[in-house]
Amino acid sequence: MTKIPAPSYSKLLKEINEGRVSSLELIPPRREVLVRFNDGTTSIVSVLPNHEQILRAAEESRTPLRVKDIRSEEALAGMIGNIALIGLVVIGLSFLIRRSTQVANRAMGFIRNQSKLSPIENLKVRFEDVAGVSEASDELREIITFLHNPEHFTKLGARIPKGFLLIGPPGTGKTLLAKAIAGEAGVPFFSIAASEFVELFVGVGASRVRELFSKAKEKSPCIVFIDEIDSIGRQRGAGIGGGNDEREQTLNQLLTEMDGFIDNSGVIILAATNRADVLDSALTRPGRFDRRIEISLPDRKGRTDILGIHARSRPLNDSVKLKDWALRTPGFSGAELANLINEAAIITARNNNNKITNTDLESALERVTMGLSNSPLQDNSKKRLIAYHEVGHALVAALLPHADEIDKITILPRGGTTAGFTRFWPNEETIDSGLYTRANLFANMVVSLGGRAAEKIVFGYDEITQGASADLDNVAYLAREMVTKFGFSDLGPISLDSSSSEVFLGRDWVNRSSGYSESTGKEIDFQIRTLAKKAMKKAESLLETKRDVMDNLVEALIIEESLAGDRFLALAGLAERPNN
Ligand code: ADP
Repeated sequence: MTKIPAPSYSKLLKEINEGRVSSLELIPPRREVLVRFNDGTTSIVSVLPNHEQILRAAEESRTPLRVKDIRSEEALAGMIGNIALIGLVVIGLSFLIRRSTQVANRAMGFIRNQSKLSPIENLKVRFEDVAGVSEASDELREIITFLHNPEHFTKLGARIPKGFLLIGPPGTGKTLLAKAIAGEAGVPFFSIAASEFVELFVGVGASRVRELFSKAKEKSPCIVFIDEIDSIGRQRGAGIGGGNDEREQTLNQLLTEMDGFIDNSGVIILAATNRADVLDSALTRPGRFDRRIEISLPDRKGRTDILGIHARSRPLNDSVKLKDWALRTPGFSGAELANLINEAAIITARNNNNKITNTDLESALERVTMGLSNSPLQDNSKKRLIAYHEVGHALVAALLPHADEIDKITILPRGGTTAGFTRFWPNEETIDSGLYTRANLFANMVVSLGGRAAEKIVFGYDEITQGASADLDNVAYLAREMVTKFGFSDLGPISLDSSSSEVFLGRDWVNRSSGYSESTGKEIDFQIRTLAKKAMKKAESLLETKRDVMDNLVEALIIEESLAGDRFLALAGLAERPNN
């Protein structure tokens, strides 16, 4: 059956009348007529709604005409289409429902995940396991009486505090202290990190707080320890874009629970933070966390005691004096000291020895402060440059009366980025008193610039390297502190510090004002630069006068790779420190 182009309506009528059409099939809903010609060809012609003319023409010419009813076909097609659509909607909906059930299940599972909320009973930690925090532990010892003998206080009408805030840098033993209290008091210990409250879904945090408190009340007397309280306890409404967020809801719940506690219920809450300055004041008001216990980094005596605690289970060689190691580890937290002893024990075991020696501790100290040791440098010119840089630091320190004493100088690389280093003995008096003189700080700047000065003197200005960048950071930091905080510059005895606390979640961004004029700002920059340049000049002038000594020291350092402080001074002919 060949299809030919449709003839016009009038031509079709003519063809019918002239008997050239063999049959017609009319499809009224489509307003079409299927025409079959005598020669076997077919064509589809559109017809007017009023197609009587065709009917008449067909009748007159006796052409067979059939009217095709396609309504049932269309109805069937429509029905199939509708069923398909409904099917699609059902599949889509069930997919969505499945997804949301999974999510809800996960949420419920999270809420129900109570393993974190079960207390530890019979803790073995005691106060004797915590050192260097004597003032704090005295205050905390009282908690044991609160738990065991509350009547002692309540008979006088005293309200026993509910919340204690332990404030201190990470690793100073806050968790350990909380455990020691629970251990000494023999009460259950609930521990949770505040960040664990605020996870996944809105409302979960608040419900976990409720659950924690209800469990604690069941187990009373007990201790609840909340670590990193600042992660939920930050000042509310201070975030950029405001926010009644999950964190706030959790905090509100915590506050409500603390208020809802009956006084003297036997539950004591200890919360730890290293950012007490950002805490919401509602959290620290009386009746909540109203006891603040500051735990600072341990002093030298504290470090000796902490090292002693961690050395209890590790055999030390008789020559090891923990007091000396405490001197060499200023600024170390309890956790870092524990790590030092542990590293030393690992090194000892690796060397198949059975007692930790000073050498093992030395390697451990370098490892924890500088990173893993790398293979020595092969490139001689690079080695020479690093040797001059390090000798620059050390020689300047040896020549400056107010600088720290040299402990060790080395060109053995460590930790991927350190090509060599010079380590100093911290000044015991300064460390213990926490007081730094202007001369101390300036000497520190000069020593920091000793490396850059040596490079410049020996290799020329074009050959100085970026290796001094950490030194420059230190210089910039010290110079800024001296000018803006300590009143050590020509700007006079005035504090010009605008950044006493960090920018706090947008609030300080909005309200930030520097507290001094633009011209003073320029003056500050000028003073900082002047101080740094003065330090650089001083370093250069010290090294220039000792160029031959520097060359000799570099030769020795290249051969020996590491020099102890005493040997360095002896080689420099400076066994006695100059007093100028
Ligand atoms: P924080 O809670 O302050 O971050 P941790 O209490 O978790 O610190 O300390 C971690 C580890 O460091 C402790 O388990 C302990 O081994 C050691 N440590 C920290 N401070 C002390 C300390 N004052 N005395 C003894 N060990 C300490």
